[in-house]
Amino acid sequence: MARFIFITGGVVSSLGKGLASAALGALLQARGYSVRLRKLDPYLNVDPGTMSPFEHGEVFVTDDGAETDLDLGHYERFTGVAARKTDSVSSGRIYSNVLEKERRGDYLGKTIQVIPHVTNEIKDFIAIGEDEVDFMLCEIGGTVGDIEGLPFFEAIRQFSQDKPRGQCLFMHLTLLPFIKASGELKTKPTQHSVKELRSIGLAPDILVCRSEGPIPKKEREKLALFCNVRPDSVIAAQDLSTIYDAPLAYHREGLDQAVLDAFQISPAPKPDLTKWEDVSDRIHNAEGQIKVAIVGKYTQLEDAYKSIAEALTHGGMANRVKVKVEWVDAEIFDTEDAAPHLEGFHAILVPGGFGERGTEGKIKAAQYAREHKVPYLGICLGMQMAVIEAARNAAGISEAGSEEFDHESGKRRFEPVVYHLKEWVQGNHKVERKVGDDKGGTMRLGAYDAVLAEGSKVAEVYGGTSIEERHRHRYEVDIKYRDKLEKVGLNFSGMSPDGRLPEIVEWSDHPWFIGVQYHPELKSKPFAPHPLFRDFVRAAKETSRLV
Ligand code: GLN
Repeated sequence: MARFIFITGGVVSSLGKGLASAALGALLQARGYSVRLRKLDPYLNVDPGTMSPFEHGEVFVTDDGAETDLDLGHYERFTGVAARKTDSVSSGRIYSNVLEKERRGDYLGKTIQVIPHVTNEIKDFIAIGEDEVDFMLCEIGGTVGDIEGLPFFEAIRQFSQDKPRGQCLFMHLTLLPFIKASGELKTKPTQHSVKELRSIGLAPDILVCRSEGPIPKKEREKLALFCNVRPDSVIAAQDLSTIYDAPLAYHREGLDQAVLDAFQISPAPKPDLTKWEDVSDRIHNAEGQIKVAIVGKYTQLEDAYKSIAEALTHGGMANRVKVKVEWVDAEIFDTEDAAPHLEGFHAILVPGGFGERGTEGKIKAAQYAREHKVPYLGICLGMQMAVIEAARNAAGISEAGSEEFDHESGKRRFEPVVYHLKEWVQGNHKVERKVGDDKGGTMRLGAYDAVLAEGSKVAEVYGGTSIEERHRHRYEVDIKYRDKLEKVGLNFSGMSPDGRLPEIVEWSDHPWFIGVQYHPELKSKPFAPHPLFRDFVRAAKETSRLV
């Protein structure tokens, strides 16, 4: 039966709770344990799929087609364990489940209340698959004291009471601000945060404290005394130059040891950290730098393309170069020439996105990459824009566009080279959709197989011809245009197994120009860079040597 670790946050948000959880997961794995990580989010959206990337950052898609919080991306990148639908839940989902049961009459005439009905629903969620792993790590989103987080805190309190003593542990992440004027590290906000936790019946076993520098002995003892934890359970989380140093840094600070001590696991198995030492070595000892332009819409918030940035870093690690990413706002090219903005980059990436805004700029970026033979990776919308560019500027279909933009504007302006996908095959059943369906959870989502053409560039990159990748889109390149586009050199080198849906395109007379309908960035890991990102960065490295 699994041991449970509950991770909560206090003082301020954005302290890196997800990262701390992911790093702890990696450290437990390094000691030979199996782990699963879970995120419980207090917001009322049923899932983050309908939230703007500006608001909430990237939506991370799982193999089984759930649209989840970007922290699940950290979990996967650090542990290599593929996240599932049942690893992410929000208040919205919990309430919606409870209300559905109420309508069905499952509660047999009872009055439905937060305690026990909502808290039971949360507890049931936490326990899913508890026999499968040694440790289940559950992160509670938000900050202690938030009104909407209360049912989750109450549920984990009850959960730990339901379990035998010693099977659950509470880890609390806080901030130790440094007051420059007095040269002091302040423990008071942490004391208050723990007080708040204790007022709702939770006592942290481990305190992880974010601070700019090390925590002196005096402050550590003070925290231990006032927050009722052991001094060696006060763990410093100092700012790091790369997130991939987190497992080693937390290990040096004694986090994994403190966790195993708290569970009274003695003697603790020794950790094997070679994987993380190699990762860290590759990042810190790069032998050059390449510059990649990401031409997108959500460029003000880096978290909007979190997995892409990480996958590029992984690609850099594989090639021992540092990848310098610059975010270029696609809308600039709506009115300006792309060339002056894209000169000097060793590769161009156009990421996924929704809506028409900025798409003419993305098309210009694809054209620039094609004409100047700059390595280009188009992801989802980035592939669709590359196809529209090819159709307009190489195949003479001057009105080529995407139905998505016509639907948005309510006017028919484009020849739909990219059209609304209404039915497709998933496993062995057919999925059907209509324009105007609910927005939430209705896209082509999750892992699908694709077949790669023998002798194509992608087959060489993947080192095989059958792949499985994650999707998240409503529109698709129309197979009808295949012949016209292949005639001018844009090959359809990857297809759905039934041959109906184009999954990959590549220019035949270009050193590296690939567009993919799926999201390869979601499956890249620091210790196993995704082949497309590995090879894209390699091509960029080659370009950098030419100039
Ligand atoms: N908006 C496009 C579609 O729905 C692309 C989606 C994406 O880039 N993830 O097909």
